[in-house]
Amino acid sequence: MNVALLTCVAMVGAMHSSRRSLGWSLMVLLILLVAALNCSPGGSRVVRRSAAHMGTVVTISVVATSKSHGEQSIDRGFAEIARLEQMLSSYRATSVLSRLNAMAGAGPVSVPEEFIELILVAQEVAASTGSAFNPLMGPAVKLWGIPENPRVPSPEALEALRPLTDLAGLSVMPQRGTVALSRPGMALGLGGIAKGYTADRVTEILKGLGVTGGVVAISGDVRVFGTQPDGSPWRVAVQDPGGGPDPIAVIEMSGGALSTSGDYQRFFEQDGIRYHHILDPRTLRPTRGLASVSVLTADGVRADALATAVLVMGAVEGLAYVEASAGVEALFVDQNGHLTATSGWPKRP
Ligand code: AMP
Ligand code: MG
Repeated sequence: MNVALLTCVAMVGAMHSSRRSLGWSLMVLLILLVAALNCSPGGSRVVRRSAAHMGTVVTISVVATSKSHGEQSIDRGFAEIARLEQMLSSYRATSVLSRLNAMAGAGPVSVPEEFIELILVAQEVAASTGSAFNPLMGPAVKLWGIPENPRVPSPEALEALRPLTDLAGLSVMPQRGTVALSRPGMALGLGGIAKGYTADRVTEILKGLGVTGGVVAISGDVRVFGTQPDGSPWRVAVQDPGGGPDPIAVIEMSGGALSTSGDYQRFFEQDGIRYHHILDPRTLRPTRGLASVSVLTADGVRADALATAVLVMGAVEGLAYVEASAGVEALFVDQNGHLTATSGWPKRP
């Protein structure tokens, strides 16, 4: 059994290609780099740092008036990520999420207001996607053991979990500040939405510190605000789910969020079949059909949840859903690498 853990890399910043001689190319590249890294006429620059969080690589880029302003802002951004990880992680026994799951079947649990807000968005996306997005897939995800302990469960073992994935068993009481899971063994899982939510929260922190532009990239969940120091939009690339070196799309963004879900991010292979980490709630098995879906919308939390949901919905249903959703665009890649974009998907710059 071959286990692969791959992350979607968002390539951000200036991109350039040239057919000139190598010398000219290098010089132009250097000028571009100096321009991108250092400066606008007002002296602002891009400061960037990557670190491991939420089981993946997080990169925060900010436009700052000085290196120290940039570094301090990034410190605050990573502190916010650490705080949210301690609330939302299913890997930490002491997180709010784990505490709630430990109380499944034992009545309502008091949780922070922002936790409630996130669950309400998860419920909203679940309702609008016919439960393709289902935050109660926790027990099924655990049974598949991806990526730590991967195995193909028996159909009986999967079916036995079905009652635990029933969304009617999740009740949220905003006025009381509580959430309840009705049956023992139920488990809320926020892997499909937490990264986008976190990217939103970090963006708010950075804006509050006076940062005028930046990019928060948590694996394939990217949130953008403002522009580069020279006033040009950020350029965000979508990785080829087939593993090719070239991005399949490059989008200019000065706001909004782009999230990609794919079958190549966490998977294992057995008997020539790829089993990945996004489960179809109807079958409790990994989805089939699409290799990846990228969703573009105003906020990270919805981009993240919708990318997961639309991958589950598949090409036909997913395309119809996104076309009918105001302010949402998507790019679909099938198993043959064929691309389909919704009508408002940006043209290549
Ligand atoms: P993403 O990379 O955002 O698509 O999220 C994938 C993660 O969401 C998985 O690793 C699971 O933890 C969780 N998940 C799997 N299937 C679903 C589903 N149908 N709805 C919501 N979350 C899911
Ligand atoms: Mg998602």
